[in-house]
Amino acid sequence: MSRLLVVVDMQKDFINGSLGTREAEAVVTNVKKKIEEYQESGDDVIFTLDTHENDYMDTQEGKNLPVIHCVKGTPGWELADAIKEIPGRRFEKNTFASKAVGEYAASGSYKSIELVGLCTDICVISNALLIKAFLPEIPILVDSSCCAGVTPESHENALNAMKMCQVTVL
Ligand SMILES: [Zn+2]
Repeated sequence: MSRLLVVVDMQKDFINGSLGTREAEAVVTNVKKKIEEYQESGDDVIFTLDTHENDYMDTQEGKNLPVIHCVKGTPGWELADAIKEIPGRRFEKNTFASKAVGEYAASGSYKSIELVGLCTDICVISNALLIKAFLPEIPILVDSSCCAGVTPESHENALNAMKMCQVTVL
């Protein structure tokens, strides 16, 4: 049985674009190392891409977060340069969690599922809890050294919330 690594939204807009943070920039190298470790041991790696259209400001997310980001086809929508050539299935999503990723995870027979990426407090936690709903008996892990939040405080809050929900925080 292999492991699954879900790389969440490692896109330029969340790193050094419209919603970028120093903390996000600081984890790119760790995320790349984690991906390589999984691929070297023959485990599965998939990527999510936050994906919006030109109507972003009319969506509920846009009304609550009026910062245009990850519009499909723009440079900010692309994965970080250090990561974008790495093979692995891509899942575009216009919601925080990807139902398709949950279904994909549930359709495999993985011995564990680990999440890394951005942002800890929005899309990492959403996908971790979604996958946990699909797979209550499979260990779900989040590596905090490969995640960053909107703020350092909300990153810590999200890690604590995930721990309470029985996600293993590394
Ligand atoms: Zn978004």
